[in-house]
Amino acid sequence: MFNNLSDKLDKALHVLKGHGSITEVNVAETLKEVRRALLDADVNFKIAKEFTVRVKEKALGQDVLTTLQPGQLMVKLVKDELTELMGGDAEGINLSGNPSVILMSGLQGSGKTTFSGKLANYLKNKKTKKPLLVACDVYRPAAIDQLHVVGDQIGVEVFSDKGNNDPVAISKAGIAHAKANGHNVVIIDTAGRLAVDEAMMTEISNIHKAIEPQETLFVVDSMTGQDAVNTAKAFNDILNFDGVILTKLDGDTRGGAAISIKSVVNKPIKFIGTGEKMEAIDVFYPSRMADRILGMGDVVSLVERAQEQFDEVEARKLQKKIAKNQFGFDDFLKQIQQIKKMGNMKDLVGMIPGAGKMMKDIDIDDDAFKGIEAIIHSMTPEERANPAVINSSRKKRIGKGSGTSVQEVNQLLKQFTQMSKMMKMMQGGGGKRMMQMMQN
Ligand code: GDP
Repeated sequence: MFNNLSDKLDKALHVLKGHGSITEVNVAETLKEVRRALLDADVNFKIAKEFTVRVKEKALGQDVLTTLQPGQLMVKLVKDELTELMGGDAEGINLSGNPSVILMSGLQGSGKTTFSGKLANYLKNKKTKKPLLVACDVYRPAAIDQLHVVGDQIGVEVFSDKGNNDPVAISKAGIAHAKANGHNVVIIDTAGRLAVDEAMMTEISNIHKAIEPQETLFVVDSMTGQDAVNTAKAFNDILNFDGVILTKLDGDTRGGAAISIKSVVNKPIKFIGTGEKMEAIDVFYPSRMADRILGMGDVVSLVERAQEQFDEVEARKLQKKIAKNQFGFDDFLKQIQQIKKMGNMKDLVGMIPGAGKMMKDIDIDDDAFKGIEAIIHSMTPEERANPAVINSSRKKRIGKGSGTSVQEVNQLLKQFTQMSKMMKMMQGGGGKRMMQMMQN
């Protein structure tokens, strides 16, 4: 999903990597690339421009967060802005009526019939809902058959009236049938055309007026990019619909539709279609989509968690100790405790870009630090402050005390020495350095 856009944004945001702080120059450079990436993804020119202006204002107004890498901060700002652009909080569908009537609109081939089935299946699985599908495409008998096939597949009744060529009458009859048969949701699948035309608009508008649905959804193929946005506008002008369904997000879509549609029609994207199967339906969460677009796992939460735990005073103390070669096992223990406060290991690893995908099948031990902590706890204060004094008899004692082997004690000592060297080299401490280590 959005691979191209993800790659380009990733490259754009890397411009700031290695810079010590956010300046007008490096922000402008980065945002120029971000804008280019958005335009390449078929995001509307005006939207892309406004997007970068807002991110720029926020980036230059930041001083609180200077402890983080500028690159990370920019990721967070871009992600927040993407989320905002795609709709802020997720919005559900209105199921208040009895039956609640949901009207589907959109062009032919956009995925209306498929999505009607997916939604019916989704609601049916909620147990409290008994949906009815209504076939209102009076021009293509095959479309009616298609809905029946879908209905059979998911075990949902389909109401149709082949031969009747009045979609308003069919939809009304469908609703009456639902009332009489205890269906509490009615999903009306309508006819689409290959392009917006007056006859189709009049027809859908007539159905809309006649049945006054609780929810009118506009279904659009995300592969059609800017066209998707224009079609959405045309339908919204006539129907003032409640939400957008973006289909075919599993394909090689450039992402422009997902990013632009909300701000053009000011209606939320409610669901996405990610495949031809009936299960390939997802509630649309702008924030998660932004994560996916940025190909970032969930690094934003990771950054936020690191920020929560980051203590400026402690970090300075640590920095001094490292500079003076005084970093000891007590400090190491503190660092471990900070990391542990950020969440369980599997969660944390999953938030690291790339790592989540790579390690999804690997079982990460939540007690990964337990052995290390036990070993450190078995050391005397002198040994913790000055690990160089730990000779082989001390190693034996520590191993015994912590229930580990001499090899394990040796391994920890070796790692500790390497880490101390690395820290000295970096001449830094605390959250900022930790983030860098995690990233590299
Ligand atoms: P309608 O004319 O608007 O009712 O569109 P259809 O539901 O018949 O869908 C048109 C084509 O798109 C069909 O071949 C569907 O299988 C396919 N399709 C629908 N939704 C998705 C989706 O989310 N992903 C993919 N890959 N194909 C989809």
